[in-house]
Amino acid sequence: MRIDLHTHSTVSDGTDTPAELVRAAASAGLDVVALTDHDSLEGWDDAHEAAAGCGVEFVGGVEISTEHLGRGVHLLAYFVDRADPALGAELDRIRADRWGRLHRITAALTAAGYPVGADEVTAVSGTASSVGRPHVADAMIAKGYVADREQAFTRFLSEGRVGYVPKYAPSTVTALRLVHGAGGVGVLAHPWGRGSRRVLGAASMAGLRAAGLDGIEVDHQNHDRIVRRDLRRIAEDLGLLVTGASDYHGTGKTGHDLGVNTTAPEQWERLRALAMGVGGR
Ligand code: AMP
Ligand code: FE
Ligand code: FE
Ligand code: ZN
Repeated sequence: MRIDLHTHSTVSDGTDTPAELVRAAASAGLDVVALTDHDSLEGWDDAHEAAAGCGVEFVGGVEISTEHLGRGVHLLAYFVDRADPALGAELDRIRADRWGRLHRITAALTAAGYPVGADEVTAVSGTASSVGRPHVADAMIAKGYVADREQAFTRFLSEGRVGYVPKYAPSTVTALRLVHGAGGVGVLAHPWGRGSRRVLGAASMAGLRAAGLDGIEVDHQNHDRIVRRDLRRIAEDLGLLVTGASDYHGTGKTGHDLGVNTTAPEQWERLRALAMGVGGR
C-alpha cells in the first residue's frame, strides 16, 4: 500500500489539474492520494471523478494557512465535511485576503524597481482558487527577473524580503477547532520544514495536542534524517499519528515527486479511524 497524503493542483500552486494529478498518482503506483490544496476544496470533485477511472483511492484534504506565535504554520485537514459553514467561511476569508495581498505584493515589488501587475500574476495563475506567492514567482520568471520559483523566494518573496507581505490566517488552535467541528482530522504539515520550526518545539506541540492536534507530517522532503528521528520521538511521546507525503506541486517544486515519501498503512488506518470517530481523541 502506497499512500501519499499531501499534494497540490492548479486549484492552488501546483501545475497539474486535479484530474491530471490523480492520473499521475496512479501512474506513480500510488494506492491512496490526498489532494490538499492551500485553503481550497475546489479540486475535490474533479479529482474524485478521475480517481474512479484509474483505481486510486482519493481523499479530500486541504492545507490551511494558520498562525502560531506569530509565524505561519500549515495545517493539513482530512475528511472534513465540505458543507460545514464555519470552516467554509474561514477558508473563504483566507482566500479573499490572498487576493488582497496579491495587490500589496505587486505594489511592493513595483516600488522596489521590479514592476509587475496583479493582472500579470492572474495571467499565470489562471483558474486557481487560491492565489499565492508561487504565482507571483511565475510572473517574475515570465518578466525575466528571476530564473525559477526558488530564486524568486530567496530574493524577493520570503519573510524579510522586499516583496514579503503577510496575509490573514486564523490561529492554529482556531483552525483545529474548525477542522474538528467539520468532522475532520488535523495534521501539522512539515512542522520543522521552514520558519515554523522556531514556534513548534516539543512543548508547543504538546499544547497543540491538548487543543486537539491529531498528527504530524514527519516524512517530508524539507526534513532531514535527524529531524525525522526527533519528530518521530515527539509524536510517540504525545500519542500523535505520523504521516509522510510528497507535497507534490507538479513542475512547481523540484524534488517533491509523487510518492517520494509515503504514510505507513497502520498510520493511515489510525487517521481513518479518528475521522470515523472510533479512534478516540
Ligand atoms: P503562500 O501560501 O502564498 O504564502 O506561499 C507559500 C507557498 O510557496 C508554499 O506552500 C510553497 O509551495 C511555496 N514556497 C515557499 N517557500 C518556497 C521556496 N523557498 N521556494 C519555492 N517555493 C516555496
Ligand atoms: Fe504550496
Ligand atoms: Fe505547506
Ligand atoms: Zn503543501
